Amino acid sequence: MKLTVVGCSGSFPSVESACSSYLLEADGFRLLLDMGNGALGELQRHCGLYDLDAIFLSHLHADHCIDMCAYFVARYYRHDGGRCDPIPVYGPEGTEHRLTTAYADTPSASSMSEVFDFHTVKPSTFDIGPFTVHTERVAHPVEAYGIRVEHGGRSLTYSGDTGVSPALDGLARDTDLFLCEAAFTHGKEDIPDLHLNGREAGESAARAGARRLVLTHIPPWTDPQINLRDARTAFSGPVELAVPRRTYEI
Ligand SMILES: [Zn+2]
Ligand SMILES: [Zn+2]
Repeated sequence: MKLTVVGCSGSFPSVESACSSYLLEADGFRLLLDMGNGALGELQRHCGLYDLDAIFLSHLHADHCIDMCAYFVARYYRHDGGRCDPIPVYGPEGTEHRLTTAYADTPSASSMSEVFDFHTVKPSTFDIGPFTVHTERVAHPVEAYGIRVEHGGRSLTYSGDTGVSPALDGLARDTDLFLCEAAFTHGKEDIPDLHLNGREAGESAARAGARRLVLTHIPPWTDPQINLRDARTAFSGPVELAVPRRTYEI
């Protein structure tokens, strides 16, 4: 699998990065994990507008899904006059309504479904193209999912947004690359069931036995070096910060 960081800024975009969005490719299939603010522009550095094969939305906070409204425009009002076939979109209950409401004036209440084939995510195991996917509810104020994606004996686990979560530890068990949020700063913000800090992300990776930890979803007002240092105190494996446009072979 090839993972590309499209955007990794937490909560709102930074000068350097769009919000959460990660492109995962294998066997010529392109799965996008989240499409937060600014992601659609960045995505076009990595593939054509219409080259995605499926989209997974971890939850419906704007910094993970709002560019789906822009992507609706690109697919529905395609410049060559055609309309795109529906692309599979996996998201929590209410994803279509949420996106339709955010867009505000789709031609009809069902217009989104003309270009997006919505599938409701529950905690389960299923296939998306060549990938086997496991989803679990994680600890966040809205219905939110962590996801483990497997292909060819390798695995990526993406936390989405979460506080400390035994379900996330389970998803990340022995995973090859653990893409884990670390939005908070240890000792500074302590709100349960919202976000992890660097130390908690490291502790989760250690409990799970992850092989490699990549910290993501760090907001512009948070010092990433502190979170990186804190994660390294809790996890002895390789740890690094997600960086826009960086790719990983998994
Ligand atoms: Zn977020
Ligand atoms: Zn969130």
